[in-house]
Amino acid sequence: MNPCELTIRSQAFIDGEFAPAADGRTFATVSPRDGRELAQVARGDAQDIDRAVRAARRAFERGDWALADPAQRGRVLVALADLIVANLEELALLESLDTGHPISDARSVDVPNASRCFAWYGEAIDKVYGQIAPTAPDVLALISREPLGVVGAVVPWNYPLIISAWKLAPALAAGNSLVLKPAEQSPLSALALAELAGEAGIPPGVLNVVPGYGEEAGEALGRHPDVDKIAFTGSVAVGHRFQRYAGESNGKSVSLELGGKSPQLVLADAPDLDAAASAIGWGIFYNAGQTCHAGSRVIVARSIADELVARLQEQAGRFVPADPLVQSTVLGALISHEHLDGVIGHVERALADGARIIAGGERCEPVSGGAYMAPTLIQTEDPSLPIVQQEVFGPVLVIQPADDLDHALALANDTRYGLAAAVWTANITTAGRLARSLRAGTVWVNTFDAASLATPFGGMKDSGHGRDRSLHALDAYTQLKTTWISLA
Ligand code: NAD
Repeated sequence: MNPCELTIRSQAFIDGEFAPAADGRTFATVSPRDGRELAQVARGDAQDIDRAVRAARRAFERGDWALADPAQRGRVLVALADLIVANLEELALLESLDTGHPISDARSVDVPNASRCFAWYGEAIDKVYGQIAPTAPDVLALISREPLGVVGAVVPWNYPLIISAWKLAPALAAGNSLVLKPAEQSPLSALALAELAGEAGIPPGVLNVVPGYGEEAGEALGRHPDVDKIAFTGSVAVGHRFQRYAGESNGKSVSLELGGKSPQLVLADAPDLDAAASAIGWGIFYNAGQTCHAGSRVIVARSIADELVARLQEQAGRFVPADPLVQSTVLGALISHEHLDGVIGHVERALADGARIIAGGERCEPVSGGAYMAPTLIQTEDPSLPIVQQEVFGPVLVIQPADDLDHALALANDTRYGLAAAVWTANITTAGRLARSLRAGTVWVNTFDAASLATPFGGMKDSGHGRDRSLHALDAYTQLKTTWISLA
């Protein structure tokens, strides 16, 4: 599809209709591919959030969604999944232009995965049973799940469609109404999704999308007294703000999916170093490293460190920054020049700290005006360096040689984060022991980033405590009710 043929939705979606911000203000959304403005988007603030929350509350109380037969809600979510696929080209192009993702990833990963997520919860929701408690025979005690009410979803810019789907699909399936606040850097696919949700049959007011800045729309949603829950994905600092907003407003529940600094442990008996190097390359350079669980640290047995580093250099050479709109591109743009400056700053600081740069480290400009960076490898022995401890969120891999298994495990756990980790070894006992000892929400063995909607995803430690995906995600969008019936 040609970008000129795109229909860009740029107004807020409230109560089933697109509308400008109440005060008429807008902000520019800019493509990191070439720095050009894509659209002026409604700049939602507290007034717009309030309109959206009121619409969501009215819709919830109307009950045409919240109290519908789960099979009916399921059919609508499956219809939405089908509409997403029917609009694949348009959605993929929007996502690629707005975020800099390679178009091939947007076509084969972002859009299909978002669609599958709606289908998965749509197909699952009429198979989720309540319980009967084991009480005395003259009592019938039922434990049922009810929706929470109005959910606020606040999402980041790195995978706008997929992360929105991870929150919207289980929350809608459970019968909630929502207000979604997309990131200001990438609001377009969420607005397109809202339109498709209306077409699929989600009643007006059940799904509202208010674009805007974090300090305006995001904070207003976090502090709104009639929001029952915030489902947040983003940085640790902002996640903690949402906990504060909740505490200072109505004590709403907050689930947090935050950052990461995920280690890949490559042991001396790793069965296939080529396979490990390839997975490590994809694990850090996919989406230019802007992935919460990116495998941004490699902890490698010293005896094989040189062999692995040589292979990683080859991998880095395969990820050539290029125009995201070209089908063969595997490394697109970073989200913005501002973010790119931050990533380059991390690399410069690492060099000043004495770390060794093995590859990359520089900006590139395959498309004039765009924000691109070469895949970067850095090696250090000092685990206390900021480049080892801080989330860089760019195509930057840190290599840390380890003396033995205990040293490798200590290095791996020496982080505030706990989102994911991987172990490469031929020894199943070692793999199992390490998996138990690694403080991470997901541990992969001899693979990286393998995933299914059937498995939960989320973090430990500062990476948060929410879980997206799987039936467990429904826990976050439902509350339990006990109904005690006397049979005496
Ligand atoms: P961010 O925290 O800056 O922004 C996330 C969202 O919060 C955006 O919608 C933003 O507008 C809003 N926001 C920002 N400041 C706010 C404020 N003061 N009050 C209310 N809302 C505010 O994060 P980002 O830069 O968009 O995304 C990158 C971060 O997201 C990284 O740390 C990454 O690891 C994390 N992330 C985590 C996961 C996960 O599942 N664990 C997935 C993707 C991204």
